[in-house]
Amino acid sequence: MAEVKLIHVWKQFGDFTAVKDMTLDIKDGEFMILLGPSGCGKTTTLRMIAGLEEPTKGQIYIGDKLVADPEKGVFVPPKDRDIAMVFQSYALYPHMTVYDNIAFPLKLRKVPKQEIDKRVREVAEMLGLTEFLHRKPRELSGGQRQRVALGRAIVRKPQVFLMDEPLSNLDAKLRVKMRAELKRLQRQLGVTTIYVTHDQVEAMTMGDRIAVINRGVLQQVGTPEEVYDRPANTFVAGFIGSPPMNFIDATVTEDGFVDFGEFKLKLLPDQFEVLEEKNLVGKDVIFGIRPEDLYDAMFAQVKIPGENMVRAMVDIIENLGSEKIVHLRVGNVTFLGSFRAESKVVEGQEVDVVFDMHKAHIFEKGSGKAVF
Ligand code: ATP
Repeated sequence: MAEVKLIHVWKQFGDFTAVKDMTLDIKDGEFMILLGPSGCGKTTTLRMIAGLEEPTKGQIYIGDKLVADPEKGVFVPPKDRDIAMVFQSYALYPHMTVYDNIAFPLKLRKVPKQEIDKRVREVAEMLGLTEFLHRKPRELSGGQRQRVALGRAIVRKPQVFLMDEPLSNLDAKLRVKMRAELKRLQRQLGVTTIYVTHDQVEAMTMGDRIAVINRGVLQQVGTPEEVYDRPANTFVAGFIGSPPMNFIDATVTEDGFVDFGEFKLKLLPDQFEVLEEKNLVGKDVIFGIRPEDLYDAMFAQVKIPGENMVRAMVDIIENLGSEKIVHLRVGNVTFLGSFRAESKVVEGQEVDVVFDMHKAHIFEKGSGKAVF
């Protein structure tokens, strides 16, 4: 079994707390993404799992084995943790062939030559590297080099893969291809994988679950659908999704509307009920809705002026071909809509905009915590 467990883990660098009280359970065979902005502590978390950093406090388990616990004086070095790491820089040995690069970790462990040969050829086959085995890294493309780095990690059959932005040096097209390959490979091997990225598309497309981190604090752990559809707070809601979720300051009215000053939208009965239960009627809240949940009224089925529809000014249109990102404004309230390509909106003209209230979110003002 290769579960990975972090229990109340802290990492302090002098006065600076890089990781705060992180508790995270990664299941056997799971593809877990650590996602967050630059400097949020995701690499530090990965390095603690790898044994490249010692936690200041807390426990880390790999499988059943306690690998770090400063209070008990336990610290298992990286080489004894049965993990393999892949970084954004491939760190291949330039003077060695692809074959020898992949074989290297097995040679270090004094695996018999025949067994090495068998495993290297298996891995090369799996990664489509068979025809390049005699080449040196400089004779390969970026994507091929990254595959060699992966090959070197998987040839040992470790309990856990740790990956730190392994695709970030590849061009956009190759990244898309490698994303799918890596996901397929991980499924095939069934090895627990912890993957650090700041790229939410990578996180959404590859992860079984995503751990969203901000300023050293775990914000939410969930499947891609969960973090997208039911974000725990405004940070997660704003970080995942592109273009980002609209946030608009609002007040919940007694008669069941969210009032933005310039206009109002009617809440669904069960939404209003929840707000009543939480004593938020009459209070200021943050209303959230994703751009794709706004519609050009031309293409909306249910449109009720004053309830789910408002006339807005079109400030700017970004035409992406497949859709139009429309910058909308009602008085001083601004928001983005992601309209379908056929929408006939024109910059500087007004358009009726329909809000899909089933997709609306309410967050507490101040804490940013999601009510729904
Ligand atoms: P990035 O995506 O930019 O790599 P990250 O989320 O991986 O960011 P970390 O590398 O984990 O971030 O760093 C978290 C914070 O801890 C940063 O503010 C960083 O400056 C700080 N930090 C990391 N290592 C050290 C160190 N050895 N000494 C002091 N501060 C450090």
